[in-house]
Amino acid sequence: MPDVAPSYADPVSNLRAAETRLKSALRGAGRPETAAKVVAISKTQSADRIGLLIDAGHRVFGENRVQEAEAKWPALRTRHADLELHLVGPLQTNKVKEAVALFDVIETLDRERLARALADEMERQNKMVRIFVQVNTGEEPQKAGIAPLEADAFITSCRAEFGLKIEGLMCIPPADEAPAPHFALLARIARRNGLKGLSMGMSADYAVAASLGATLVRLGTEIFGPRV
Ligand SMILES: *Cc1c(COP(=O)(O)O)cnc(C)c1O
Repeated sequence: MPDVAPSYADPVSNLRAAETRLKSALRGAGRPETAAKVVAISKTQSADRIGLLIDAGHRVFGENRVQEAEAKWPALRTRHADLELHLVGPLQTNKVKEAVALFDVIETLDRERLARALADEMERQNKMVRIFVQVNTGEEPQKAGIAPLEADAFITSCRAEFGLKIEGLMCIPPADEAPAPHFALLARIARRNGLKGLSMGMSADYAVAASLGATLVRLGTEIFGPRV
């Protein structure tokens, strides 16, 4: 890839470049090119800019706030039948109803109260939302996610007690540390719990994440440019 700043006015070509880089990282790790896909993180982006990606064929998007997503996505969804919307930010239990109605995938399950609320609400709405458990791999007090040492028991109770089908794990490594050990830790927890999905890697580190088993990389800045 040429070492030039991407044109932020053109999210579609930025996405294509990111996909090329992702594929080459996957190939380099001996993984199939299709083993990981890009979740375009569209928080703070206008419907017009998101629409460019939808029109270009991209289908998988992520938002970090329920309220912002509620304002943008019902209209955007009418553009295509098979859009896939992920919640990648913290979920409060008082927003579970809206989240279950709006999202296809919730990546941030991290506590029992939320597990119970999600299970109840999915039954009420008769809608199955795909679920990832967020793990706080850096054990940062200000960050959401279950502690690594509690992850196995939590995943077990999500399955046994709440009947949730967990698809995978998600993490956001500490900003000031090398991400690889965090990605490797997440992959180990997933493996020993029989989980296939790994949502890890953002704009700064998705090639590393791809080489360590990511199945979803969450890209905001790389596609849309710096958030203002
Ligand atoms: C904003 C955000 C991203 C995207 O971050 P970039 O560094 O802009 O790619 C990924 N994951 C989560 C949880 C986010 O909130």
